[in-house]
Amino acid sequence: MPASDFEPVIGLEVHCQLKTKSKAFCACPVVFGAPPNTAVCPVCLGYPGVLPAVNREMVTLAMRVALATGCTIEEKSVFARKNYFYPDLPKGYQISQYARPLATRGAVALRADGSPKSVRLNRVHLEEDAGKSMHDFPWQDVPTGVSLVDLNRAGTPLIEIVSEPDLSSAEEAYEYLVLLRRLVRWVDASDGNMEEGSLRCDANVSVRKKGAAGLGTKVEIKNLNSFAHVKKAIEHEIERQVSALEAGQTLVQETRLYEPATGATKTMRSKEESMDYRYFPDPDLGALVVDAAWKADVAAAMPELPQARAARLVSAFGLPAADADLVCLSRPLADFYEAAVAAYPKNPKALANWLLSELLARMSDADRHAGRMPVAPGTLAALVARIDDGTISGKIAKELLGDLIATGRPVDDLVKEKGLVQISDEGEIRDAVAAVLADHPAQVATFRGGKTASFGWFVGQVMKATGGKANPEVVNRLLREALDGR
Ligand SMILES: [Zn+2]
Repeated sequence: MPASDFEPVIGLEVHCQLKTKSKAFCACPVVFGAPPNTAVCPVCLGYPGVLPAVNREMVTLAMRVALATGCTIEEKSVFARKNYFYPDLPKGYQISQYARPLATRGAVALRADGSPKSVRLNRVHLEEDAGKSMHDFPWQDVPTGVSLVDLNRAGTPLIEIVSEPDLSSAEEAYEYLVLLRRLVRWVDASDGNMEEGSLRCDANVSVRKKGAAGLGTKVEIKNLNSFAHVKKAIEHEIERQVSALEAGQTLVQETRLYEPATGATKTMRSKEESMDYRYFPDPDLGALVVDAAWKADVAAAMPELPQARAARLVSAFGLPAADADLVCLSRPLADFYEAAVAAYPKNPKALANWLLSELLARMSDADRHAGRMPVAPGTLAALVARIDDGTISGKIAKELLGDLIATGRPVDDLVKEKGLVQISDEGEIRDAVAAVLADHPAQVATFRGGKTASFGWFVGQVMKATGGKANPEVVNRLLREALDGR
């Protein structure tokens, strides 16, 4: 964005699918990718005369997210009917929470890139998902122009996490979303996959004159179904609003759709056409009561949260803060790291370096989040231990890693079998040094004449002569002695 007199004000509404086995108000299974309309029953199909029942696990998972974000869990919250007509909504209303949400007033701390910042949460509330209208089909017998409805998703439990308008750039919105996804995954409440629709996001964007107290005209952007889209859509929307205002135009409060193909947003509906949902408490569901015992059970089962865990890794193992944060990218990754440290407590920093540089580079993003590690923690520990005790060099260890991943065999077996044991024997290395010096009298003369920058070249020659297996420290020391001591 070019420098201007305006500053953006952004709030996000994040819809997150909870990882329950069954739906929010019936016993249907929650499935992804099943044949259409196979995970449905009279309750989620909205048949008359049926009664919904609250899924307790849904409430427990929502409470975990509420606790992870520092929200207050309300003892009494109320399910309301949000009334609107749409083909994918068989009941004609969505069960949601409106006036009395499950949890209120939390916060998410953004990373301290420069100055730390806390994004306040307005609420975390429960709701059910709608079904899905389908417009493209793999089947040949559907005529063009026909849309069909799949209600497998209808009644799937969601939480909506609503932030205050505390975000002031597309980058901050992106970071907030990344941290929120880590949190919901960390507490096992959701798988957080934006691609599969289990994390969806609407953004409220406005701009105002820098330093102004009030808020500008708000635009809600819908249809943000990837992290990249969230960032691009907000960037585009800020630019659009700023240039409109700079051209002396007035903005209208409206809902806009993001179109990935053009990278732009377009009007979906204006405030005048905005929906009146006629919310009222669902008479079929009494108030949702969370008593102290339930709250205490959920609190007792909470894991150590990522930011606290990263801080502990810094203080316990001396990791740099940025490294500790990366180790805490996901809970399985942090667990892997601590298991490796437990197996080899002598060098936590080296274990972190190996994890972050060598292992993560071999893993996909999905692997990192799911903790599908290429080797066992004990294997990484053994590898670093063999470097530290001088059995193998770091260079050999990196080469060995590929075999360890491919075979899953113990480090010591492979080291022995491949004859990789590092040469630390001084006599052997001294011989190699002497041979290199004898073979290159001209270079030796140049070095002794003062061009000492070629020292590294000599090291390389000795390493080459020993098949890369010589202990580099010993090579350095003996070479220095041989070259200096005419
Ligand atoms: Zn059902």
